[in-house]
Amino acid sequence: MLKDELKKIREEINKHNYNYYVADNPTISDYEYDLLFSKLKEIETAHPDLITPDSPTQRVGGISSGFEEYKHKYRLYSLDNTYNEDELRKWYEKIQKEFAKPVQLVCELKIDGLAIALTYEDGYFTTGVTRGDGIVGENITQNLKTIKAIPLKLFEDVNVEVRGEVYMPKSSFEKLNEDSKEKGEKLFANPRNAAAGSLRQLDSSITAKRDLSMFTYTAIVEKNNNSPLTHWDSIQYVKSLGFKTNPNIRLVDNIEGAIQFCKEWETKRFDLDYATDGVVIKVNRFDYQNELGFTSRAPKWSTAFKFPPEEMTTTLLDIELGVGKTGAITPVAILEPVNLAGSIVSRASLHNFDEIKRLDIRIGDKVLIKKAAEIIPKVVKVVDNSEHENLPKYNPPKFCPECNGHLIVREGEVNLFCENPECPSILKSRLEYWVSKEAMDIDFIGPSVISQLFDLGLVRYPVDLYKLKYEDFFKLEAVKEKSASNMYNSIQESKNRLFSRFITALSIRHVGKETAELLTEEFPSLESLLSASLEQLSSIEGIGDKIALSIYEYFRDTKNLELINEFEELGFVFENKIVKTEELLGKTFVLTGTLATMTRDEASEKIKQRGGKTSSSVSKNTSYVLAGANAGSKLDKAEKLGVIILSEEDFLTMIGEKI
Ligand SMILES: [Zn+2]
Repeated sequence: MLKDELKKIREEINKHNYNYYVADNPTISDYEYDLLFSKLKEIETAHPDLITPDSPTQRVGGISSGFEEYKHKYRLYSLDNTYNEDELRKWYEKIQKEFAKPVQLVCELKIDGLAIALTYEDGYFTTGVTRGDGIVGENITQNLKTIKAIPLKLFEDVNVEVRGEVYMPKSSFEKLNEDSKEKGEKLFANPRNAAAGSLRQLDSSITAKRDLSMFTYTAIVEKNNNSPLTHWDSIQYVKSLGFKTNPNIRLVDNIEGAIQFCKEWETKRFDLDYATDGVVIKVNRFDYQNELGFTSRAPKWSTAFKFPPEEMTTTLLDIELGVGKTGAITPVAILEPVNLAGSIVSRASLHNFDEIKRLDIRIGDKVLIKKAAEIIPKVVKVVDNSEHENLPKYNPPKFCPECNGHLIVREGEVNLFCENPECPSILKSRLEYWVSKEAMDIDFIGPSVISQLFDLGLVRYPVDLYKLKYEDFFKLEAVKEKSASNMYNSIQESKNRLFSRFITALSIRHVGKETAELLTEEFPSLESLLSASLEQLSSIEGIGDKIALSIYEYFRDTKNLELINEFEELGFVFENKIVKTEELLGKTFVLTGTLATMTRDEASEKIKQRGGKTSSSVSKNTSYVLAGANAGSKLDKAEKLGVIILSEEDFLTMIGEKI
């Protein structure tokens, strides 16, 4: 029966969701998953009466007009917290006095996200609510359904309320901000704000696009003979229901064990892909917890240790000006060096001149700097200081620090721009971007080589790189035969890069790597791109009107067209070389060892160009392992699992590069 078939597909997809998002152990390829999903969607579209609330298709919801208030069934208490080890010891002493036996504790990382309570009835997810003030929160069920780490149906048909923390991985946060920057949209200050902003979207399809996850840490179940007796066991129970729990948890015998755990994570936390601001310590036994009870605002059986702040005050010595590839002038704070979260910081971001004005930052001020999930620390505000009023106000520059050209404000943008197309700083940044990994990926040519080539008058525009002769490289500092030929060859070789890389490298306003890829997928040749109308461009999903206009105008400028012509004359071929080949389509490759004729990155690009995929670990779903010299454990695993192993030669034959 159709109903049974649907049930089977749903269970299958839910199982793979669990493997991927909760257990972190995928067992099928993305391609196979997509096939399953579209099959389900197809049947459901034809038979909408058969859609169930736990169907994976229900994860993408519609638009709501606002969030309803929701009174929590069980109050969500806050925690007392401390930065101090001795206070932790005092807290424990008080507890220890109540009981004759030693009191075990559970230590967990305090995730810096949003506290959420989820209700399940008979195993089905029914309601998800924000913490709010602990008594009343907001019902955001529809948005929470889009988070794949939250099961729609549990492994057991139970009534349970669980609590956890929804967070955005640091890497996804950075990517989100990069994309927003590219599109000229507002940036989020940190991963927690990004997670909160994503969860509070009225259109849940936007939430669905954000990479959110959730660690679950508490379950409230109706008491029965099987219900867990300790916090430790309840975490195992939560896990067994299908929730994702944080693996960094430890059961310790006393407070010294807990302090040890805090110390370890004070530095190790920077290696995690999610933000954590401390450690939560709880009495393990539930009967002890009940005996200890609550104060008016917090449980007596739990406390939080907060990690030392990633903020410091220091003096702003100067404001340096940088010129980017778009001509944007960026102010950089030069600081009295200070130790911040383990590293010496002497420069920090100041965002833009509006921000300097808004915060009234003056050279000589005492400022607060902060390092959170961001790699580059930033100036947050001026700290009260008597000097401030006597310091001269900071005035934004009127002229480019490099070429002395006039600076202008562009409509809708906060930065100041140097409009001189021949500004040496802009030309240099463009060249640097051209050779960078993100754009044309030219090995052996870095910023210092670019700077020398430019200053010697050998290269002014990217096209000049391709006119350099082998002898020219000897004019550079300390260059011998070997590096000269490396540089020469790698420039020439880059003529064969993907069309999308070339478009990226052009530094068209608002067009970064991702947009260039979308663009060349739709318009795979220069010819088709040049004839694209404004409407056609803006109808591509992911390309807005502003970006479309910028692209359209770029290809209407005769100077740009002449430039592209020059590249063509130098032997560039402007065509998307993505040729989906039957043999590679949907196949998953794992690369290991050193290849002789290409780097691993180049090999994976060749695979992707032909419709294949790459993965970093070998599983039974791996189609091929491409093994170069000195291949290690991945090769062993492939042999054990009987995965086909390709030599470099086999691979080249397969992709038709060797006959
Ligand atoms: Zn300039």
